[in-house]
Amino acid sequence: MIIDENDTAKPFIGECAFCGQGLLRVWIISEKLAVLCDQCELYWSDISAVANDPMVPATGTLDTSPLAEPHRAATSEEIADANLTHFISGYSV
Ligand SMILES: [Zn+2]
Repeated sequence: MIIDENDTAKPFIGECAFCGQGLLRVWIISEKLAVLCDQCELYWSDISAVANDPMVPATGTLDTSPLAEPHRAATSEEIADANLTHFISGYSV
């Protein structure tokens, strides 16, 4: 597989099995790495579990209100540092 990473493409782990529309990406939620669906906002604390089985129950739904816990997408460097690169299945905007 050819991975073409550029300034706008962001890594994803796979497709969300619950909403069927979103992509599962690595985020940092309250300082901890997690997997987050970019459509339905389900998240998983156990990254390897959801990477291996997309049907594993989610940890919860991310609170995106202004008062929510801080959250942002993890950078490629952070994903590499956490030894999660092998879970990345592709890149998209
Ligand atoms: Zn979803």
